[in-house]
Amino acid sequence: MYTAADPLAKVEKDSEEYRDHIGTINAEGRRAWVYAKKPKGRFFQWRSLVSYILLTLMFAGPYVRIHGQPLLLLNILERKFILFGFVFWPQDFYLVVLALLTMILTIVLFTSVFGRIWCGWTCPQTVFMEMLFRKIEYAIEGDFQAQKQLALSPWNANKIIRKSAKFLVFYGFSFAIANTFLAYIIGSDELFKIITEPVSQHIGGFIAINLFTIVFFLVFARFREQVCHFACPYGRFQSALVDNDTISVTYDFKRGEKRGTLGVRKKAGFSLSDAVAAGGVTSAEASAGQSSSNPFGDCIDCGACVVVCPSGIDIRNGIQLECVQCTACIDACNKMMDAVSKPRGLIRYTSFNSITNGYKFPLKWRTLGYLTVWLGVLSVFAGLLLTREKIETVLLRQPGMLAQRLPDGFVGNLYNAKIFNKTFDVQQAELRLAGGVQGELRLIDKLNTITAQNFAEARFFVALKPEAITAPNFPVEIEVWSNGAVVARKKTIFISGGATTP
Ligand code: SF4
Ligand code: SF4
Repeated sequence: MYTAADPLAKVEKDSEEYRDHIGTINAEGRRAWVYAKKPKGRFFQWRSLVSYILLTLMFAGPYVRIHGQPLLLLNILERKFILFGFVFWPQDFYLVVLALLTMILTIVLFTSVFGRIWCGWTCPQTVFMEMLFRKIEYAIEGDFQAQKQLALSPWNANKIIRKSAKFLVFYGFSFAIANTFLAYIIGSDELFKIITEPVSQHIGGFIAINLFTIVFFLVFARFREQVCHFACPYGRFQSALVDNDTISVTYDFKRGEKRGTLGVRKKAGFSLSDAVAAGGVTSAEASAGQSSSNPFGDCIDCGACVVVCPSGIDIRNGIQLECVQCTACIDACNKMMDAVSKPRGLIRYTSFNSITNGYKFPLKWRTLGYLTVWLGVLSVFAGLLLTREKIETVLLRQPGMLAQRLPDGFVGNLYNAKIFNKTFDVQQAELRLAGGVQGELRLIDKLNTITAQNFAEARFFVALKPEAITAPNFPVEIEVWSNGAVVARKKTIFISGGATTP
């Protein structure tokens, strides 16, 4: 226990105590609400800029059109995905899987080198929470101390008005996010129908919007950092990806320790500008005045990095699972270092090994392994994307139908064709029976012009003269023509099934 007589005892106490509990749970096992101080500084400005770009992209994604297609669409219900105007149909699902795999590997690679940089700068949870909802909260309830006071105050007019206003605005934004989220899944046209047409025609959509709104509202009004601590799977496995070479928001303990407030230093007989001792001294030595070496580092134990932390942790305890690398503590500490005329960067982006052994580029076998796999998957993905068929045809025999004797004596098999136009041009498609067979292809439905990034369906008979049928089953070839040129040849089976007998 720290006493005036033993000023160094506090800084030498066992600092491992934080491992016994998490910052957002109090001694009674209850949620300890985090009232984070409003961050200010260079990193916060950069993060704000990045978040404005991301928020614009996120909200605009389903509504902006490229060649008539939305910028982004993730219709998992119909397995239709659109990325930057490129449509991926169910036949391209392997590409979507590869794209997701590439994305996961990108995160793994970046986590191994740069820690949770994704969480702090680009994760939608952090962007919405810290750059939208938290800012609304500061605007309505004030900074952290005012928020704390408001929470503790009785329910008076001021509290009712501020809390109601905050939750109303939170609900409004949650509603907007829910609509946008749904637009990503079903498309903005469908969403527009749900909004404008009678509720009775879109019960499912109406329930989905309200359900998503409630979920988003609860996430940003109540669960907040708990989502990162307990719900996010990435947060859980990141500890397996980082190591002592990973660059992340880190407290320079070599420079900062032993920490001590200006008061503690003064009582121990040191000033902030005294040179720091190479190995420090013990509290007993300092109390007994046995050493004149300054044991204190640059950390003035002001707590600015702790009060600003939205995860409720102390970065000086080292890398912790709860840290989302938001950089707020870097800004807070830099401000304090400026105030006491010490160099900035006591908390900075660096690695444990950089602090202990000097700079070391964190490219090692494990990272090289991730990089190799990542480059391999990325190349396969890019190769398959660039070489995928521009006009793809899926041809199937009509299930359950046998060969038919047609009125003109020909023998027919019924087929279904689905032609996907993956280009940005209009295609005038045609289907023809490949030469060398005594027969013809008879369309039942007219094959319409296929607009860009769209598809058309057609049913048709392959009608053969009876004398052309030489076996119970034999292959025939269908040519797919588009804008006057053959774009694909599809083989299928013709089944005579005894229909050759008059
Ligand atoms: S420790 Fe620093 S970087 Fe990590 S969450 Fe807290 S404020 Fe953000
Ligand atoms: S803000 Fe900097 S000086 Fe203040 S307690 Fe944190 S690390 Fe120490």
